[in-house]
Amino acid sequence: MATHVRAARAAGVGEALHAFITELYPIGRSITGDGVRETLRRIQRELPLQVHEVPTGTRVFDWTVPREWNIRDAWIKNLAGERVVDFRKSNLHVVSYSIPVRTRVSLKELREHLHSIPDHPGWIPYKTSYYAETWGFCVAHETLQSLGDPEYDVCIDSSLTDGSLTYGELELPGETADEVLLSTHICHPSLANDNLSGGATAVFLARWLMELRGRRLSYRFLFVPGTIGAITWLARNPEKLAAIRAGLVLTGLGAPAKLVYKRSRRGNTAIDRAAVHVLAHSGRPHEIRDFSPYGYDERQYCSPGINLPVGCLSRNGDDDYPEHHTSADDGDFVRPEVLADSYEACRAILRVLDADCVYVSLNPMCEPQLGRRGLYGSLGGAGERRTREMALLWVLNLADGEHTLLDMAERAGLPFATIESAARLLEEHGLLERRAGSEARPR
Ligand code: ZN
Repeated sequence: MATHVRAARAAGVGEALHAFITELYPIGRSITGDGVRETLRRIQRELPLQVHEVPTGTRVFDWTVPREWNIRDAWIKNLAGERVVDFRKSNLHVVSYSIPVRTRVSLKELREHLHSIPDHPGWIPYKTSYYAETWGFCVAHETLQSLGDPEYDVCIDSSLTDGSLTYGELELPGETADEVLLSTHICHPSLANDNLSGGATAVFLARWLMELRGRRLSYRFLFVPGTIGAITWLARNPEKLAAIRAGLVLTGLGAPAKLVYKRSRRGNTAIDRAAVHVLAHSGRPHEIRDFSPYGYDERQYCSPGINLPVGCLSRNGDDDYPEHHTSADDGDFVRPEVLADSYEACRAILRVLDADCVYVSLNPMCEPQLGRRGLYGSLGGAGERRTREMALLWVLNLADGEHTLLDMAERAGLPFATIESAARLLEEHGLLERRAGSEARPR
């Protein structure tokens, strides 16, 4: 495929990802409730997603599935009866999981329930209170400062009831049962980078994999409420963990910043090596971070008793950017070209995982005569030809049954795709044989 076709396609993907984020953005999500269900319904238009409901009160390891939270409306009215804070204008205005309230309070008491960001007086913060019974509003600091009436009427028309926790799951079986887990959280209200960017990227990756011919590995996608959703899935599916060979938590993939790959707890598993290799050869600014028990759902997948080979791909790393968890994380903050770039990085990582295998040379006694077979190519520039020849020589040398293609790429210092196409070419010429069942194992 010509480069410009690829580039045009990539740009098209970015616009489509952005459009999907824009569609999901207004929905009021939390860790439970109708916002999550509505989000999963929209995703179901794109993917044959299975939606699971886990009842309130279900024990999941040390946690309990909480009561379900829903909200219809909320406001703060001044004495003239005007809404000075209006949930209908931004769903960030209410602290997520606020208990219902309808009362008149003094300005002093109201202030104890207000959250703002003095450093960014125009931004509304995003706050949650899942496990403490309280209520609160999040407001722009300039709104807070404009409050001058002695009393205000407040209303939060929410409900906390026995219901369920909702998550989405998609299984894409491949030639082998070895599985790649892709997980993303879907519990934030109108916030684009954290984390509609991760959810949209996961949807597009799933669509690509569904159409990918000769998909070798199996893939499992999870769209879960952060923390409690990942814990719930892990607690309900102990028998599924053994097949997971690699995994990625996808988050914060749309804002302009370098790509950050955070290693799994084990540190040098298949996903760690694939991600590090792809980023090293991508020409992109990037950073590799070691695992730490802070961040997103890799905390659960990499807890000591679970210890799955799951890393995290994001831009910015954890949450070290001022727009994080504020109204400034909106549709303008995430960019189509950045989304496309993140999507392409994910695809490249998954391609390495899917294509990695062991080849064995059928002609190991000294080098085979490549010139006679026309394998010393005459096409391309001198540099390109030299790289191709080096790839052929490395593959022939390391096709001893002990090295996977990724081992060879690392040792040769060449991109995986170059090594893979050299191996394919040598296979076509009867010089190599793929060892069946030789897929890379986690180490
Ligand atoms: Zn978050």
